[in-house]
Amino acid sequence: MRDMRGLRDSDVYKSALEHFKDTNPCQHNIFKNLHIERTENRCPICECLIDGSVHRKNIKNKDAVITGTIDHFRPTEYYPNFKCEDKNYLLLCSDCNNVLKKSLFPLYGSQTRATSILNVNSEKPLLVNPIDDDIEELFTLLFIFRPDGSKILEVAIHPTLAEESYLYEKAKKSIEIFKLGECHTSNSTDNVQICRIGILRKHFEDLYEIALAFKNNSSELRVLLQEYKTRNNKHGFMKFIKNKNFKIIIPQG
Ligand SMILES: [Zn+2]
Repeated sequence: MRDMRGLRDSDVYKSALEHFKDTNPCQHNIFKNLHIERTENRCPICECLIDGSVHRKNIKNKDAVITGTIDHFRPTEYYPNFKCEDKNYLLLCSDCNNVLKKSLFPLYGSQTRATSILNVNSEKPLLVNPIDDDIEELFTLLFIFRPDGSKILEVAIHPTLAEESYLYEKAKKSIEIFKLGECHTSNSTDNVQICRIGILRKHFEDLYEIALAFKNNSSELRVLLQEYKTRNNKHGFMKFIKNKNFKIIIPQG
């Protein structure tokens, strides 16, 4: 997951916004590259690469390439007035957007939906938005060694959040909808579930060694960080690791 806060503050974003205001109908794709630059070619939620290198089988058993699209964070189905609000745009991968989130937008408690961008702050959405939320306040990472020998990196609710509080429920619902945790316990043969496990395994492979070096303050850390800097594929999860916001779970016995 990628911290995208501050995205809308840059001069380049502000000039894209000026250009956007002149488009009719509104062209939200104007912002796509700015989001992609920020996430370094990954989905900001599941961190799947969206550069065309990741494939999965779709329901027709055909090979589908995972791509990135600009989504209406608040779906136009419930928020028709938000169609042309740049603050309502969020880059997502095709799985997070079209297969998992779809037009879901749960709210905390029984709330009336906002009718204007001016009153969204009174709403308590149960879905994370990495442009507006502090993702490390909501989540922690778990490097999990499974008893069956598989290893995955899961997203979990931050341990400091009080059960049933708004942020706790928001973290919980986000993990559930985007299938970022507890995926390994599922018996589903759904392709996205398999793909998610695939993604979570890949994240473990990419990041475990460096996380362990951070945890142990190992002498190899400098070399690993140097090597990481030269990688093409950077992870938003690295920020969690640098902040030691993770745990390593090894099965007992
Ligand atoms: Zn995604």
